[in-house]
Amino acid sequence: MKETKYIFVTGGVSSSLGKGIIAASLGKLLQARGFKVTNQKLDPYINIDPGTLNPYEHGECYVTVDGHEADLDLGHYERFLNVETHKANNITTGRIYQNVINKERRGDYLGKTVQVIPHITDEIKRNIKMLGSKGDFDFVITEIGGTVGDIESLPYLESVRQLRWELGRNCLIVHLTYVPYLAAAKELKTKPTQHSVKALQEQGLQPDILVLRTEHNISQDLRKKVALFCNVEPSAVMQSIDVPSIYRVPLNMQQERLDEVVLTKTGFDLAKTPKADLTKWTAFVERMENATEEVHIGLVGKYVQLPDAYKSIIESLLQACTYNDRKLKLELILSDKLDDSNVADALGNLQGVIIAPGFGPRGMEGKLAALKYAREHNMPCLGICLGMQAMCIEFARNVLGYADANSTEIDSTTTHNVVDIMDEQKNVLNLGGSMRLGAYKCHLKKGSKVYEIYGKEQISERHRHRFEFNNAYKEEFERNGMSCSGINEESNLVEIIEYTPNRWFIGVQFHPEYSSTVVNPHPLFVSFVKAAIG
Ligand code: GLN
Repeated sequence: MKETKYIFVTGGVSSSLGKGIIAASLGKLLQARGFKVTNQKLDPYINIDPGTLNPYEHGECYVTVDGHEADLDLGHYERFLNVETHKANNITTGRIYQNVINKERRGDYLGKTVQVIPHITDEIKRNIKMLGSKGDFDFVITEIGGTVGDIESLPYLESVRQLRWELGRNCLIVHLTYVPYLAAAKELKTKPTQHSVKALQEQGLQPDILVLRTEHNISQDLRKKVALFCNVEPSAVMQSIDVPSIYRVPLNMQQERLDEVVLTKTGFDLAKTPKADLTKWTAFVERMENATEEVHIGLVGKYVQLPDAYKSIIESLLQACTYNDRKLKLELILSDKLDDSNVADALGNLQGVIIAPGFGPRGMEGKLAALKYAREHNMPCLGICLGMQAMCIEFARNVLGYADANSTEIDSTTTHNVVDIMDEQKNVLNLGGSMRLGAYKCHLKKGSKVYEIYGKEQISERHRHRFEFNNAYKEEFERNGMSCSGINEESNLVEIIEYTPNRWFIGVQFHPEYSSTVVNPHPLFVSFVKAAIG
């Protein structure tokens, strides 16, 4: 079996430097040379997974096909590599401890005192090596969340130190830091980088490659200085300069020879490795940058102060706009503030609107006001998850005339519960959790708009919700123009609704945004943007 190479990406000086993007870019570059690559994220928090986190804490909760609620960096990995990730691609401290404690209760440790070293670190190493153990990948790129020096990161860094020792040349450390520009002195400063590398060295780790985030070009002299102070070869000190779009980063890192240095240091002969084929990627980036004509799209949700809460939706829209040769002008609209009196001001100048997913009652009435406006003005509209459920409520209230129509999640006393916990759904709930999570099949009605969009009858899409369309209303909905055009046949659940009198008014119970990638944009988003252009 071929040997898997393990690359670790750590970060210093500051958080939010874009470790995930650097890790995904390296993955892209190696993949473009024909290697099989997977990206993994280790999160130092104690939550078992981000499923219970408020989006304001860590941004959106991403969902993998196998139903894992994951860090949003997995979304970057999928969008960049166009390869699905799974539960094993995201590990948290909470999961590590849970596994170790379960083993302890089972008696697996044979009476030993269970300690951070070796038991926690062994569990971390097991989870890292698991990805490479089946021989599926040439490279496993593992991003360590947090910043060097955080107490929470210590067991992870210690695990990397041990792995480095075990794996030798098959293991590399890429450290990402920040080089600030002092405007008053007109100088770029490398001292924080030197300190950050020292902090890493105190943990027994020596970075092999330094990537310096910067707003200004870093000269060769400065790179040499960093190399000298940090025990890194000058050719392995590279910059990652600010770019207008994250999709430029792989191309910039290729210019910096990140992939070449990684390959050389892990024992490859560059002359014998294929050149990177980034044709499709480059074509996408150029098309995105060349698009000048704007398309104005609104996103109505309750977490709009933190756009990361809607990361995948925004990236999917951007991809869809690019494939329509348009520049995305996105308006984030706070649903809490919307009502029938101000909705025309908020939506009047838009060409299309997306109603966001979410949990709980806050902002629901605003979403309903936006939906009423969009439906009555024949504005292209896509409702996602809670957004689709809101579509059902708005339709039941304003078209069918059930003034108190609601979802039992929002109002459990309503007599017209068009969205509810369904018996059918109880059959498919994942054990241990109460949500329908991960990919489920959906059958599309021939002749429907979605059938035309997808171009096939059977699709599979990712879910993350508890409530479902109430089948008791299905017949009445369909009779009045709201077609239930996508059905999960195994459990008889409505997955897609479309309002047929309008030109583009579709609600989906699933999350198409999780599976839209740079080279494979999601057809629903592409079609939605096309309709918005008109
Ligand atoms: N809160 C709704 C449910 O649980 C929708 C969830 C979502 O939008 N992801 O059914």
